Order: sequence, then structure tokens, then C-alpha cells
Amino acid sequence: MAPRYRDHRVMRGAAESRGAACADGAERRAPPLPVRKADAVRCRDAWWIRRVAPLVLTALVLIGFAPLRAQDVKKTETYARIKAALQAVRAIDTHEHLRGFDELPNRVATPDGTGMTLFGIWSGSYYGWTNPLAPWPADGQFDTWWKQAEHNFDNARATSFYRYLLPAFRDLYGIDFDTITAEQARSLNARIFENYRNADWLNDVIVNKANIELMLIDPYWSRLQFARDYPYSVPVLNVTTLLSASHPGRVTSDADSPFAAARRMGLKADSLDDYLAVVDRLFAEAVAADAVCLKSTQAYQRSLRYGKVTKERAASIFQKPPAETTPEEQGDFEDFMFWTICGLSAKYDLPFQVHTGQARIQGSNPMNLVDLIEANPKTKFILFHGGYPWIGETAVIAMRHKNVWIDSCWLPTLSYTVAKRAYQEWFEAFPSDRILWGADTVNAEGIYAATEFTRQCLAEALAEKVERGELREEHAIRIGGQVLRDNALKLFPRLERMLWRDGPPKS
Ligand SMILES: [Zn+2]
Repeated sequence: MAPRYRDHRVMRGAAESRGAACADGAERRAPPLPVRKADAVRCRDAWWIRRVAPLVLTALVLIGFAPLRAQDVKKTETYARIKAALQAVRAIDTHEHLRGFDELPNRVATPDGTGMTLFGIWSGSYYGWTNPLAPWPADGQFDTWWKQAEHNFDNARATSFYRYLLPAFRDLYGIDFDTITAEQARSLNARIFENYRNADWLNDVIVNKANIELMLIDPYWSRLQFARDYPYSVPVLNVTTLLSASHPGRVTSDADSPFAAARRMGLKADSLDDYLAVVDRLFAEAVAADAVCLKSTQAYQRSLRYGKVTKERAASIFQKPPAETTPEEQGDFEDFMFWTICGLSAKYDLPFQVHTGQARIQGSNPMNLVDLIEANPKTKFILFHGGYPWIGETAVIAMRHKNVWIDSCWLPTLSYTVAKRAYQEWFEAFPSDRILWGADTVNAEGIYAATEFTRQCLAEALAEKVERGELREEHAIRIGGQVLRDNALKLFPRLERMLWRDGPPKS
């Protein structure tokens, strides 16, 4: 572009001094003046530039002029090397919702029996949170569904809730979902159905294709059980119902109920002290069952601002029927319990995964937690989802408080661009040994896709820094390995003896 601009300047100068001898447009209509020899040469140059330069530039763009192409770091050798290095890391996924094979959700009735379908993969993904998806039809026929569903994706093409799943179709099935035909969709559906006849596909995808060694499973469908359905599963104690159970009527399922747990343990739960003893026993059981951390998803129900409430106040609310309890009283009980759980987190060395950001967004800004974090320096807080969209807020919290880690689980799925920017900003704001990741999904395709999407995002964030000269390549690769694996091993030391890919787990 530069030579073209310089010649325009020459032309404008000549036109201004002599009444526009060879300028274009309105100036060309000025009365002709005698043209001096030097000006004639400049005009000939300008003619050549006007005719030939656009052709040359077009050709450069078409053949992929190097500086233009380099804007996408994924086309560089640096990216290819970093991506390959991250691919080779046996990842530790700190957040999943994978159930036992027979309990996997989203299976539907078909003429060949109940099973997993293309509909099941999409309905088990985050796509439906913001985009339409036709329901599975009463006749159970794929073709009936596809006729309804094929245009559901039209407005979702750029969303990360759609795009994060594409690597599964591309890499596991060789299908580009952006251009899928009805015939390809039918065959894809049939292959998915076959793959879910037993657990082999699930295990192969997770272990060999996604290259995951361990995954922390948040059992929100049955919070107080610590099953290990797969060689790679690691239990998590989900404390969401412990925080809110001021009365048995507050918990709908026995599997989630501390009162049901009390009955099983032969303990009373009549007073707050009884209840706290039950909760303490549940923590001890969780540790004995190899749970490595706690998880709260209260951001979906309430604000993350947990005030300091006295035990007397909480005791006066405990066992009050929900109909007789004001929202303020229930909030105070939960505040007291959250601080109590922070204490137990430190006592049992179970780091605390806290959902922050995208949920009930009125109160999910991670800044709401800062006073609590400061007052509980022995509790290790893990701010989930990078606090999306408050990624700068989580960064400054981690910068100021050494008892804070940031987990990027789900973040690339929410917004790939924000996730890439978040990684780069976090690398700049605090040490690289306090960032984690997780796929946060429910089936083989979802886990593979979110893992690949994260590896790509992380590799891209690192490669851009290397290309800009802000980071050496070997350091970038080391940081990538920390995020994908090493940081989890350091934060959850119990994981060391659960590693199994180089032989059976150590007892
Ligand atoms: Zn989750």
C-alpha cells in the first residue's frame, strides 16, 4: 500500500501547483495547461502505478502474502509446535459431570431401541442454552428430527456454544458440521448410536483421543456419593445442599440430603450443633473416599456476597420450616454455612471450587468474594469459569491473594475470544502455577470437543505471545503443561497416587 500512497502525494502536489494537469475526477475537468517534461514523466509513473499496483496487490493477497497470512497465528510453525506439545500432555481435567455409563443422559427412543443420537449429543451440550433445538420426534426417526432441526443452527454459527462441539464431529467422525448434508447427518447419527452400545467408545475417546489421565467429577445429580465409575474418575464433594439445608424440606432428593446422610450415619440433626457434626462427618467420609476438593454452584441461586453471621443467629433459623422462614433468614443461614465450609475446607485440605460469573449474573461477580477470601487465608479458593465475563476481576483477586487459583473450565465454551484473552492477561498478572482447566461436559463427544477447543485456545494464546517476542517458546510449552496438568497435581496432591496411565494406581 505504501508506494501507491507516495505517488498520490506526488500527483496531488503537481495538481495543486499547476491546476490539476493529470489528476482525476473533478480536477480533470480543469482547463488543460501546457505540461512540462518532468510532470509528464510523473504522470506516466502514476498511470503505471494506478493500473499495475492493484493487480500486484490482488495477486499477493491471492497467493497468501506472508505478512497478511501471519495475522492468524494458527498458521505459524510456532503454533503447530506448541499445539503438538500440549496435545502430548496427559491432561488432568478438574471439572466434569460424567455419570456412570448406564446413567449417561440424553438417550432417546428410536426404532432400534433406546440410545445415543446426534440429537442426544447436541441436547447434552451447551448449545441449547442460547439456541433452538427441535425436540426428538414421537416417531423416533432421525429423518423426521433432521427436517425440523437442520436450520436450527443458522443463527448459531459464530457462537462458541455451537463451535466448541465441532472438533468432535471433525476429528472423531471426519464431518464438517458447518457444511453437513442430510445424508452425512443420517450416517453420523447411526455411527453415534453404534458407539454408545457399550462403554468402550467413551473410554477410548477420553483416554486416547482427548488424552486425559484424570478427571474430577462433580456429581450434582447425587452430591453426597463418591463413586468412581471409571479408572480416570476422581470424586468431588459438592457442598451446595449442605449450604442451604436449614430444614429437611429444603432438599428434594435423599441423594443430596445431609438429613438422609445423618440417618444413615445414626446421627441426630435436631440442632445446629448436631447438623455441624453431620457435615464434619461427611467431610471425613469424602476424604476417606479420595475426594480431592469441594464444589459450590450457589451462584445459580443467590449472590456470592457472604456476610459474617453469628452461630446464634444461624441456630435460631435452623429447622424452621421453609414457609415460616424469610429470604433474609435463609440468606443468613447460608452465609454462616459458607464461612463454616471455608473453615472445613482448610481443616481437611480440600480446596474449594466456587462457581463464579455466568449464572445468576446479578450476584456472581467474583469481587463479591474478596472479603471472605481475605478473612480465610488458609482456605484455597478456586474461582471457576475464570469469573466470565469478569476475567480481569479474577486476575486481580489472584494477584492480591495467594490462596486463590483460577479455573478456566467452561470458559472457551462460553467465549473462545474471551478465553484466549483471559489466558494472556492471567499469564501477565500472576504466577503461571495457579491456572487450571476443565471440559465441564457430560459425554465422550462433549469431553473431546471441549478439551480440543481448550488446547487450541491455550496454544493460540501462548503462540501469539511467542510470536510477539513476549515469551520464549520453551517457557510457553512449560506454561501450557502447567495449566493442563502440573498445576492440578500440585494443588491436589492426592492425585499423585491416582495416576494410572503408567501402571495401576498406587494404593
Ligand atoms: Zn460444571
